[in-house]
Amino acid sequence: MMAERHLLLAGAGHAHVEVLWQFARHPLPGWRITLLTREGRAPYSGMLPGVVAGLYAPDQALIDIASLCARAGAALELDRVEGLDPAARLLRRTGGPPLAYDLLSLDTGAAPAVAHIPGAAQHALPLKPFTGLLARLTVLAEQARPEQVFAVVGAGAAGTEMAMALSARLGRRGVTIVLIAGVAGLLPGFPEEMRVRVATLLARRGVRLMQGDDVTEVTADGVLFRRSPPLATDAVIWAAGAAPPRWLERSGLRRDAVGFIQVEPTLQVVGQPAVFAAGDVSSLLPHPLPKAGVFAVRQGPILAHNLRAAAEGRQLRPYDPQSNWLVLLNTGDGKALGTRNGMVFGGRWVWWWKDLIDRRFVARYQTA
Ligand SMILES: Cc1cc2nc3c(=O)[nH]c(=O)nc-3n(C[C@H](O)[C@H](O)[C@H](O)COP(=O)(O)OP(=O)(O)OC[C@H]3O[C@@H](n4cnc5c(N)ncnc54)[C@H](O)[C@@H]3O)c2cc1C
Repeated sequence: MMAERHLLLAGAGHAHVEVLWQFARHPLPGWRITLLTREGRAPYSGMLPGVVAGLYAPDQALIDIASLCARAGAALELDRVEGLDPAARLLRRTGGPPLAYDLLSLDTGAAPAVAHIPGAAQHALPLKPFTGLLARLTVLAEQARPEQVFAVVGAGAAGTEMAMALSARLGRRGVTIVLIAGVAGLLPGFPEEMRVRVATLLARRGVRLMQGDDVTEVTADGVLFRRSPPLATDAVIWAAGAAPPRWLERSGLRRDAVGFIQVEPTLQVVGQPAVFAAGDVSSLLPHPLPKAGVFAVRQGPILAHNLRAAAEGRQLRPYDPQSNWLVLLNTGDGKALGTRNGMVFGGRWVWWWKDLIDRRFVARYQTA
């Protein structure tokens, strides 16, 4: 009889929840499955600004990983990946001896890009891990007083949504929200009409938008800029960019110029057919994708198929990313703004639509 082989999934990212869901429906005979991840509940990013705005209870945006693993027949290890030895097929972790695998899949996401700005790691609150941010924001919100200033650094989709969510939650209590867009500006890469609509909305809601100057340092008292005078703050939320996690430096895996894991269209790591990677931690060849949850979600079914095919010695499928995708921004006021194919639309109906998509995503993984 052949010994049972081991599929090790690291990180409960958006692609892995789909992989577990598929294994719950169709088990993989002859294989045991382990999920090693940092937290027992996986946040669904699309709903996070809604949680901050007070539109959802935190539980509504958190996927219960233990029950998903139980349904998939997978063992759950709450631990952190620390490194990898691909030649020996060993994954190193913080809380125990290394884990051996026959097939490994990595969906651990990106890390906050704080390393290059002095003080950011010490004094700013990163968006991830989200449960940590939420706990801190809850305390800050309880203690919020008029005259306080909360800054959000980074005005991509996540930072902009976060600023609007904070303004919905704290604006009425007299807290000033400042969105620091830097030299990259507001919503880089988005249609001009979207930028104009968001800027108008921010102004109407009293959110101060600072553009054209980058943050050079975060201190215990505020934020310093290249040219502008310092900004005194009571809290700084760091939403500026995504960086490769440090442990990748000890992974022995092929990485792109920035440091993310290079994967073939089959989501196999270049030169490592037994290792797969998906979502923000990966860098797809030949053209890396933006770091957005939509790609991790779309990679989920291909990753599930390819892990099964690799386990059974069958043909793998390529992942073909869409060139246009829908982006819906929660504006925190019962409305949302959306864009696709250069078109921009907004209103209450866009929020209802976004709310439906997001609730459906989480419900898929919460129900038996
Ligand atoms: C506030 C906010 C709003 C956003 N809104 C959107 C949106 O509307 N649309 C969109 O497309 N994108 C959005 N994004 C971006 C989106 O969150 C990411 O692109 C997406 O989460 C990436 O998914 P992932 O599967 O790569 O990993 P993640 O969702 O980051 O999940 C990684 C998982 O790995 C675990 N993990 C991390 N490190 C380790 C480790 N060392 N060891 C073990 N486990 C580990 C984590 O606990 C987590 O379970 C938003 C981001 C934020 C912060």
